[in-house]
Amino acid sequence: MHTVYLSLGTNLGDKTQNLVSAITEIERRIGPVRAQSAFLTTEPWGFESENTFLNAAVRVETALSPFDLLNKTQQIERDMGRTQKSVDGKYHDRIIDIDILLYDDLHINTPKLTIPHPLMYERDFVLIPLKEILLQKETIQ
Ligand code: AMP
Repeated sequence: MHTVYLSLGTNLGDKTQNLVSAITEIERRIGPVRAQSAFLTTEPWGFESENTFLNAAVRVETALSPFDLLNKTQQIERDMGRTQKSVDGKYHDRIIDIDILLYDDLHINTPKLTIPHPLMYERDFVLIPLKEILLQKETIQ
C-alpha cells in the first residue's frame, strides 16, 4: 500500500457538499481516507473571481500506481461535473479540483504528472491543510 496526500478545492455551488462528495468518492475509488483537514476558506489564486474557495487536504492509503491514481482523481473531477481544465497556467472557477501532492517519497517529473506537486510550496491553501494532516495521527479509522 502507498500513502498519498491529495489537495481538494472548490469555488462553485455548495462547496462544503462538493468537498464531502469528493472525499466520499476518493474513499470509494482510491482507498481509505486516513486523515482529513478542516475545510479552509481562501481567496482565488492565479485568477480573478468573486467566488472564494473552500480547500482541504486528505491522506489516503492506496494500491493504485501514480498514473492510475491521476486517472481516478480526474475521473472524479469529471463525474462531479468539472469541464474546464486549467491550460497554460490559466485558471477558472471549478466545482472540484483534486491535486496529487505527495506519493510516498516518490519523485515523478513528466508532462502529465509531477510529484511532489510543483506549486504546492507556494500556496498557503495547500500548505495549511497539508501541515494539519502531516502532524495528525489517523483521524478516521
Ligand atoms: P488541473 O490543475 O486539475 O486543471 O490540472 C492540470 C493538469 O495538471 C492535469 O491535466 C494533470 O495532467 C497535470 N498534473 C501534473 N501534475 C499533477 C499532480 N501532481 N496532480 C494533479 N494533476 C497534475
